[in-house]
Amino acid sequence: MSEKSPKLRAELDGIPTYKPGKPAASGGAVAYKLSSNENPYPPLPGVLESAVAAAGAFNRYPDMACTGLVAELADRFGVPVEHVATGTGSVGVAQQLVQSTAGPGDEVIYAWRSFEAYPIITQISGAKPVQVPLTPGDVHDLDAMADAITERTRLIFVCNPNNPTGTVVRRAELERFLDRVPSDVLVVLDEAYKEFIRDPEVPDGVELYRDRPNVAVLRTFSKAYGLAGLRVGFAIAHEPVAAALRKTAVPFGVSQLAQDAAVASLRAEDELLGRVGSLVCERKRVYEALVAQGWTVPESQANFVWMRLGERTADFAAACEKAGVVVRPFAGEGLRVTIGETEANDLFLHTAEAFFKEM
Ligand SMILES: *Cc1c(COP(=O)(O)O)cnc(C)c1O
Repeated sequence: MSEKSPKLRAELDGIPTYKPGKPAASGGAVAYKLSSNENPYPPLPGVLESAVAAAGAFNRYPDMACTGLVAELADRFGVPVEHVATGTGSVGVAQQLVQSTAGPGDEVIYAWRSFEAYPIITQISGAKPVQVPLTPGDVHDLDAMADAITERTRLIFVCNPNNPTGTVVRRAELERFLDRVPSDVLVVLDEAYKEFIRDPEVPDGVELYRDRPNVAVLRTFSKAYGLAGLRVGFAIAHEPVAAALRKTAVPFGVSQLAQDAAVASLRAEDELLGRVGSLVCERKRVYEALVAQGWTVPESQANFVWMRLGERTADFAAACEKAGVVVRPFAGEGLRVTIGETEANDLFLHTAEAFFKEM
């Protein structure tokens, strides 16, 4: 018998593992999960029913081309069906975009800190991550990102609003940046939190994509639409990028439950966006309370807020957990807390107030 283990690609060695938000503790008194930017509302009745109905046929493969969902999305955004590509969450689509553009020797640029999936999917492809630090105000430094472009650059992620800081880039600066990017470099506008934006100066990526063939827009049903557990997201992109996404998709990746629930969600959009409105009110309340307590926090356009706590991060995360709310610490840097149920937000605010006084 051979002593050697199977040969694995060397690129896998340095890849960080994705750290999911901790689940809420079970068995304790109250426990709220504010660690994964999930929607705290349970599935809408009509949406749940459509998923349950689809479950009755899960002995069959799903519609591989997601025909119904793609048609619905194309209609909604006023784009050709050929420009819509679905995937297993927008993380799945983001990975396909990297696979489609970058391999060993190529470079992928993104801000840092930003979404933790970017380094992972870049390194899986064998490409080199080029991380451009956020400004001191925790905003994308688009000038520095444009300066970082080389002839090896294949893809640039712009996370707007940025996870985990909640900060945004606005129309004029984003357009100026896009004008500087060579037309053969793909810019991916990751708009996972689009529906939570209230700043009118933040552009809609779908408008920017229309006359820019090197721009792709990523959206998801996981956050505002509350389908995180079903794994469905999509990109809007010109050919040949959209065609590349159809080639790199795992066959039958998006389940029929997910497809049908996504269509039902689009049809229940008024109600779902009403829930988003309530979460945006809660975001304002949490932000203003933190500022009143004395904290300096960036204004967020997403369903979470960021606190740059540095060395105090772990202690504050532990205090939150003790109080019954699980948050998402980034050791030594800061902490992201999702806007959740009112009671959960209150528990968090009480903890923050007490912690600030002890500092
Ligand atoms: C949550 C999130 C996603 C979406 O994840 P899904 O795979 O669609 O669940 C994408 N990008 C960012 C920045 C996110 O925070």
